[in-house]
Amino acid sequence: MTITRFAPSPTGYLHVGNLRTALMNWMIARKAGGTFILRLDDTDPERSKQEYADAIRQDLEWLGLTWDRMERQSERLDRYAAAADTLREKGRFYEAFETPTELDLKRKKQLNMGKPPVYDRAALALSDDEKAKLRAERGEGVWRFLLDHERIVWTDGILGDISIDAASVSDPVLIRQDGQVLYTLASVVDDTDFGVTHVVRGSDHVTNTATQIQIIEALGFTPPAFAHHSLLTGPQGEALSKRLGTLALRDLRAAGIEPMALLSLMARLGSNQPVELRADHAELIEGFDLGQFGAAPTKFDADDLKPLTARYLASLPYGAMADELAELGVPDDLAPRFWEVLRENIETRADLGPWWEILRDGAVPLIEDADRDFVIDALARLPEPPYGPQTWADWTGAMKDASGRKGKALFMPLRMALTGRARGPEMADFMPLMQARPRA
Ligand code: GLU
Repeated sequence: MTITRFAPSPTGYLHVGNLRTALMNWMIARKAGGTFILRLDDTDPERSKQEYADAIRQDLEWLGLTWDRMERQSERLDRYAAAADTLREKGRFYEAFETPTELDLKRKKQLNMGKPPVYDRAALALSDDEKAKLRAERGEGVWRFLLDHERIVWTDGILGDISIDAASVSDPVLIRQDGQVLYTLASVVDDTDFGVTHVVRGSDHVTNTATQIQIIEALGFTPPAFAHHSLLTGPQGEALSKRLGTLALRDLRAAGIEPMALLSLMARLGSNQPVELRADHAELIEGFDLGQFGAAPTKFDADDLKPLTARYLASLPYGAMADELAELGVPDDLAPRFWEVLRENIETRADLGPWWEILRDGAVPLIEDADRDFVIDALARLPEPPYGPQTWADWTGAMKDASGRKGKALFMPLRMALTGRARGPEMADFMPLMQARPRA
């Protein structure tokens, strides 16, 4: 049984980087007919907000990334306390009392001596009396996991064989001074409790994975399969971390990006497979192969979402748009034809309303100075709607004879007069949809 999870912290809105993680885990579960868990990593009560938890669910729903089970870490604190007790019993958990300033000083000294800034385990040498004294002076300590100083190895689903020297890593703090359980422990307890079999996350978690493997084993469990995907950069390879806030999924949605466009890009970006528009979730899942993803940073350009969105919309049959067109007020007898003519000529759904207004009320003509007399003459010869499939050919033919214009000089001013725009659908198809003449 394959079980994966997506574990965002509800401390902000999901962005494209989060989506990549969510999508890979979701596709692994769906491809295997397994279970996908949505887990909210909300042990930090100050930064976690219900508003963000709601937004995470809405964003995933918008994308159709359904989950089979939802869990919140804040509801599982007793499980983490029990795991902490187990680690204590096994001699793998120790209390330390250094202040942040003291730790900082230690790190600086180590760096000055050219040593890696790894916690020196001074607290391990404390006697019970010394600990009691420190506790009386400073309050509770933090709890650190005692790493086994050996090499931690795993075969990563993306990065291949990994080997990390545990001695190069500080014993991780798993419980803060105020008693708050930190992500590293909570995540391990959840992953083992829920039987998670595959964990895909960003390569910023590689060191976490090393320590988590030891914690899982200390608790008596077998680690899941791990894979770490590369992090996203901007189109020029620049760090995206600061800009990710502007690439929130809800902003892309507000900008009219279609879910299938976003999913099609994010499901293949950074892999050997081409980014192509996929028609539906089944197609995304079918072609997905984690082994095709590379370790190199992955360039992301939000502009790539626009052509994919346009192509997705162009691919939709009328049935998929009928309700939306009815809501815009396009009459039923006109709507199928309206969609046929417009679907290749919109960037987002939001373009449909303005096009319908142009057809219903008549366009405000766009007229270049040099074309003024020509267009005024042309509009004077334009019959009242309704128009037929021949109207454009007849009208432009008559104007060609009258003015001697041809080609672009003939057609463009007339298009701009009828639509108020320089670009749009085939005019021969457009005219029969017009309900009104251009507004004079
Ligand atoms: N809440 C963690 C994060 O968002 C989860 C990491 C993980 O997948 O274990 O980074």
